[in-house]
Amino acid sequence: MKWVNHVLIAGSVTAVYDVRLVPPTIIGATAPDWMEWVLKFVGRPVKHRTVTHYLSVWSLAWLAGIFLLPDNGLGTVLTAFCWGGVTHILTDAMMVSGVPLSPYSDRRFHFLVDGSGPGSPWSTGSVLAWCLSALA
Ligand SMILES: [Zn+2]
Repeated sequence: MKWVNHVLIAGSVTAVYDVRLVPPTIIGATAPDWMEWVLKFVGRPVKHRTVTHYLSVWSLAWLAGIFLLPDNGLGTVLTAFCWGGVTHILTDAMMVSGVPLSPYSDRRFHFLVDGSGPGSPWSTGSVLAWCLSALA
């Protein structure tokens, strides 16, 4: 999915909750992809939609933010960042390639799409991807 779709989906869903949390959520919504660039920059390149796209890691980080971090200031910002990451992973999971479930499994997670099919109606840049962004 394109970054603009990730940003629109994460930003619009978060704005309903608290518009002040939109910036950290948007940064988190692009993080799984730009973290790949950072790893490449530091000499540790990874394949796209692999180690930075674990559904379990982003989900646990978000839940930890909700239940373990203080509900103000930096805690709220970090939780919003992780929420953005969760939205990124869930929307990438709509692609045929899916996303990895955890570092301890080679299974891929798919959301609203059958990963065994020839193509996803949600593919990058598709009309449905844009419609989802518009609805969010
Ligand atoms: Zn991604």
